[in-house]
Amino acid sequence: MANTAVVYCEQALAHDTGENHPESPARLKAVLAAMEAAGVAPPMLVPEPATREDLLRVHTVDHVDTVQRCCLNGEDYPDPDTVMMDQTWEAALLSAGGGITACKAVLAGEYDNAFVLMRPPGHHAEADFAMGFCVFNNIAVTARWLREVAGLHRVAIFDFDVHHGNGTQHIFYEDESVFFVSLHEYPQFPGTGFPYERGKSNTTLNFQMPPGCSPDQWINTVRGVVVPQLQLFAPDFLLISAGFDAHRLDPLGNQLLEAEHFAEMTRLVRDIAQGRIVSFLEGGYHPTAVGVSAVAHLQALMA
Ligand SMILES: [Zn+2]
Repeated sequence: MANTAVVYCEQALAHDTGENHPESPARLKAVLAAMEAAGVAPPMLVPEPATREDLLRVHTVDHVDTVQRCCLNGEDYPDPDTVMMDQTWEAALLSAGGGITACKAVLAGEYDNAFVLMRPPGHHAEADFAMGFCVFNNIAVTARWLREVAGLHRVAIFDFDVHHGNGTQHIFYEDESVFFVSLHEYPQFPGTGFPYERGKSNTTLNFQMPPGCSPDQWINTVRGVVVPQLQLFAPDFLLISAGFDAHRLDPLGNQLLEAEHFAEMTRLVRDIAQGRIVSFLEGGYHPTAVGVSAVAHLQALMA
C-alpha cells in the first residue's frame, strides 16, 4: 500500500466560470462525492499558493501581470474560454502551488505520492498566455520547481488528457531535462501534438489517438511505448497530467475509455521514478465520469 495524499482546498470552488461552462466547480464536488461514496479517504493537504518567483520560472512577467489585472481589476482576458474573475486569482495561485506542496511532502518522505485536486487546470497555459480553461501551467511550474529549487536532474510528465498539453510541450521543448509524453485525440482542440514534434534530444513524445479508437489502443501504447521510454529516461520524479475527458461519456472528447482504463494506465506507470509521483487533475467534464475515473486513478496510486 502506498501512502497517498490529496491536495485540495475550498478556494478551488470559488473560481466561478459562469453558467454552462464545462470547467465548473461541480467537477471537483463530483470527485469529492465519488471519493466519499467509494470510501476513499486519503489524508488531505492544504496547498500553499505559488509565489511570483514560482510562476516566473515558467511564465513571462507580462502574463502574470495581465492575469492579475484581469482577475482583480475586472479587465477582460482575450481568450473567452478562459474566464477570470476576482476569486480566480487566489484559486490559480493555489492550483499552481498545489503541485509544489505535494512534491515537498513526497520528497520529505511524508507521502509516497499525491493527487492535486485543484482548478483551474493548467496544461494548455503557455508561457505568455492563458487558454483552454487554463490560467497558469500548474504542472510546468511544479516541474521547474523540482529542477531548479529541489535540484532534481530529470523530471518526466505523462499527459493522458484527451487534449494535447500544448503549453507543457512548448515550455519544455528545448529543455532536455524534462521529458514530455502525451496521448491525445486528433483531430481535436488545440490541434497541436504531432508525432514529428520530438523536442530537444527527443524528449517530447506524442501519440495521436483517432476519435472512437479502442481503449486497448491507449493501454497498449502506454504499455508498449510510453513505459519503456519513461524507463529509458529514468526520471527522478514523475508528474501526471490526469485529464479524464477521454472517458466515453465526456462531452468534449470522442474516446471510449472507462474508469478501469485510467486505473490501468496509472498502474502501468506506478513504479516509474521509484514511485515518486504527483498527479494533477486537468480535464474531465462529465460529472459522474470524472468522479469515478478520478477515484479509480487515486485507488491505483494508493495500491
Ligand atoms: Zn482536456
